[in-house]
Amino acid sequence: MKPHVIALCPAPAVYRCNALKILLQWCRRGTRPGEEMRMIRELDHWIDGKPVPRGTQGSLTISGPRDRAVVARVALGQAEHVDLAVRAARAAARDWADRAPAERGRLLAEVARRLRERADEFVSVEVEETGKLVGEMRGLLQMSADYFEYYGGVVRALFGETINLGAGDHAFTSREPYGVVGMITPWNGPLTQASRGISAALAAGNTVVVKPSEFTSSTTLMLARLCEEAGIPPGVLNVVLGTGPEAGAPLVDHPDVRLVAFTGSVATGRAVAVGTAQRLVPTILELGGKSANVVFADADLDKVVASALTVCTGAGQQCSALSRLLVQDEIHDAVLERVAGEMRARTPGERLAPMTTEAQFEKVLGYFDVAAQDGARLVAGGHAVTGELAVGRYLEATVYADVTPEMRIFREEVFGPVLAVTRFAGEDEAVALANDSEYGLVASVWTADSARALRVASRIDAGQVIVNGGRVGIETPFGGYKSSGLGREKGFESLLHYTQLKTTVVSTR
Ligand code: NAD
Repeated sequence: MKPHVIALCPAPAVYRCNALKILLQWCRRGTRPGEEMRMIRELDHWIDGKPVPRGTQGSLTISGPRDRAVVARVALGQAEHVDLAVRAARAAARDWADRAPAERGRLLAEVARRLRERADEFVSVEVEETGKLVGEMRGLLQMSADYFEYYGGVVRALFGETINLGAGDHAFTSREPYGVVGMITPWNGPLTQASRGISAALAAGNTVVVKPSEFTSSTTLMLARLCEEAGIPPGVLNVVLGTGPEAGAPLVDHPDVRLVAFTGSVATGRAVAVGTAQRLVPTILELGGKSANVVFADADLDKVVASALTVCTGAGQQCSALSRLLVQDEIHDAVLERVAGEMRARTPGERLAPMTTEAQFEKVLGYFDVAAQDGARLVAGGHAVTGELAVGRYLEATVYADVTPEMRIFREEVFGPVLAVTRFAGEDEAVALANDSEYGLVASVWTADSARALRVASRIDAGQVIVNGGRVGIETPFGGYKSSGLGREKGFESLLHYTQLKTTVVSTR
């Protein structure tokens, strides 16, 4: 058992230790008092630079994925909290937008510096709430800091243009912030998802009200507090907690929110888009995926196997997971055998994280039944973990072979450590299979033939195509084709999405 789990709360005063719950946990796990002292975080909204008590609405109790012990109680915000936060963001908007990009950039660089300085705290809290492996979370923490550094710097290169209308008129364009941005994030990458959008939106001169997932709110609150400590004025970044229908929907519908940036499932994305369509406000939607990893017979097999195993990163709870492995006939059996062997060796706990939420755990278990009913051939895994780890939400790394396009595990986003393997004969069939999906987030292509690599990459309908393991970074725009979303996050492109274009024409006659 871990000796002591300490987590930082945005407002130290609201930390409370629930002695009774801890005693119950001790009894349940048979640990002695003193062996484990888990602090339960009490999370309240962060509005205008201070915590706002939850009022009479109460809270939601959150349990950790590794042992299902209570880790946090989260305020259940309502429309009134959203309104308070939007008002604070609106009041802060003019001053923030008027500052020189260089000044905003310096503050964002300071956020990055402090995030790195306090990496251990952020990592331990997010590991506790999401179940991520510590090594993976350390990488994500660095990436979160990188976002603030990157947008803090690159915003200084955000220029307009002059347009030549001939003598007598001087025309130019400028990029202006929208004002208040409403941001809604999911539970699978709370800190990175929040950092990705917040850094770009703030760099561009907007103020933000963010609603994190009710299951993983802690690090977003910690980030808001850290931003203020770094010198970002109160009201520029606000956090409202709560569920989607109670706190998310009022944010989408608020008349003073001028842009909505949503990351989450396709179903919720559609509901958000219906709301923003009513008000005609721009909407960035970063949604799910069912991405294809296309392997031709001339590929480097060691690299292919390593790439197939990335479906285990975050236990497959990643929008960009390469969850469909399409393999050419000649090498299909060899690839399947090696991948299945490696997946069986992915020991849950040490090398494979648990499912973050109970609902997700149940959902993936349900897909095991569905795959069996649909006739997929189970090659590895396919069960919840038994024994000591069964106290947590652990699943085995799972591989299905003989998966056909009619099967649900070919078509639907499972969001777990589950690989669906399908064979193909030639290039046209590979492209057809890759594109036979409502999603279009990522695709990967493996071949030694560079002409074929470029041909296939251009024929696949996806927002990003990775050839022979190319490395994507925070500089590379990210977003979906088809139902995987609208707009782009990451890269310079994101700054363009968080600004609106103004044309000014001055008569010089
Ligand atoms: P979700 O759609 O259930 O919830 C996402 C967020 O929306 C949460 O904060 C939730 O409280 C809120 N929400 C729910 N109903 C709402 C409503 N009616 N109005 C406004 N907000 C509402 O998604 P999830 O289960 O939290 O996240 C997993 C999904 O996110 C997966 O589909 C995954 O692929 C996707 N995702 C996409 C990206 C990307 O960049 N494309 C990144 C991470 C996750």
